[in-house]
Amino acid sequence: MAVPQNRVSNARKGNRRSHDTLVAGNPNECANCGELKRPHHVCPSCGHYAAREVVAMADEVDLDDEAA
Ligand SMILES: [Zn+2]
Repeated sequence: MAVPQNRVSNARKGNRRSHDTLVAGNPNECANCGELKRPHHVCPSCGHYAAREVVAMADEVDLDDEAA
């Protein structure tokens, strides 16, 4: 197993980890429902992309038709 040749100082470790911070996302407003969504992704709340419905949402699908 590889073993580090030298101890990494606290300062060097801190300098390396100074780039490890997570940045917040950059959400856009959905053109259809106004909900915040990830850019270039289908809106998770209404299923629209570019003001056009591309995914039918579960609450809009009538499941009773299949049961009858
Ligand atoms: Zn939406």
